[in-house]
Amino acid sequence: MTATKHDPKDFENPPINWIPAIVLLSTPLLALILVPWYLWTHDLSFSVWLAFAFFMTWTGMSITAGYHRLFAHKSYEAHPIVKYFLLIGATLAVQSSAFDWCSGHRVHHRHVDDEYDDPYSSKRGFWFSHIDWMLHKYPSGQYDYKNIPDLKKDKILQIQHDYYGFWVVLSNLIFVGLAGLITGDMLGTFLMAGLLRLVLTHHFTFFINSLCHMFGTRPYTDDNTARDNPILALLTWGEGYHNYHHYFQYDYRNGVKWWQYDPTKWFIAGLSKIGLAKELKTVDDLTIKHAEVTMQFKRAQKLANGNAMSLDERMLAFKERISAEYDEFTKTVEEWHALKAKSIELKRTEFASRLHEADEKLKEQFAQVEQKILAHSERIEKALLQFKGKTT
Ligand SMILES: [Zn+2]
Ligand SMILES: [Zn+2]
Repeated sequence: MTATKHDPKDFENPPINWIPAIVLLSTPLLALILVPWYLWTHDLSFSVWLAFAFFMTWTGMSITAGYHRLFAHKSYEAHPIVKYFLLIGATLAVQSSAFDWCSGHRVHHRHVDDEYDDPYSSKRGFWFSHIDWMLHKYPSGQYDYKNIPDLKKDKILQIQHDYYGFWVVLSNLIFVGLAGLITGDMLGTFLMAGLLRLVLTHHFTFFINSLCHMFGTRPYTDDNTARDNPILALLTWGEGYHNYHHYFQYDYRNGVKWWQYDPTKWFIAGLSKIGLAKELKTVDDLTIKHAEVTMQFKRAQKLANGNAMSLDERMLAFKERISAEYDEFTKTVEEWHALKAKSIELKRTEFASRLHEADEKLKEQFAQVEQKILAHSERIEKALLQFKGKTT
């Protein structure tokens, strides 16, 4: 977190951030020229495509499962083997040190959408949030690392930070070079698994800061610009469910529904099954559903208020229906809060032998509340559909 509020004046004429600017502008240009040329003039072997796929997966997932969900959000604990495997992959991805990435990301969550304090605020437009925030030295991009005391305890992360440029070059030379030896096509491997992979992984990640704050749905909160976008989830190993993520940032899942494409979630869950990850943090289903239903009411109320002037019978009926349903929903939420309080109280006071019995009863009551919330959700969705379809 940066405690200081940045002065808008300091955003005028910011100096160029030379090294990132050269890397971020030259690599796409080189890829655009060299990759088509190579593909046109050479037959690319299957093993080079395989190396490309491997490095896309390793470096991409190292950003999502490593830098993002493990280091920045601590949404699970990883075995050191996993942790450092992801650290190497994230170094290969050339997205700055773990300290820089995570410090900036924590500021982003804390000050999301603030024009001057969110380092990649979408309120400053697509170009700024996508890439310009790295091309210039904006005040919001200068971190004091006070918000990463947990990461600063890790000596290896400190070394990665102190000699970052060296590690980036060395890791890419060693690992991509090794792949080149295996495929027998050094230049092709460097172009595909090195250069093209780097550019694609860069921009897919950047899309989360730009497009994922612009296009998509907001099922959980409209307090910020973050969106759920399943198409972007396909490109980003599941990180496209960004609305959920901004509301429940400590959940190791971004695509929280079982059918949502979130390979990073599956990867972490898989690791936990074989004992390489633990303490996977999740938000309980009821809390998630509560957020969703609250948003459904918000949408319905907005629709009703937006049409406040046309007080025909249909509108009145709809308004009454929404308002009555909302009163019922408020009661259900109160019931749920009371249950939660009771559950905490029970755990404090009951003897272990009786706790099980009491717990079973509570579970049943929680299940009833969940059913009620689901029923509210269904009724409100039906009312919305009927109203929009004019079938009342
Ligand atoms: Zn965001
Ligand atoms: Zn995040």
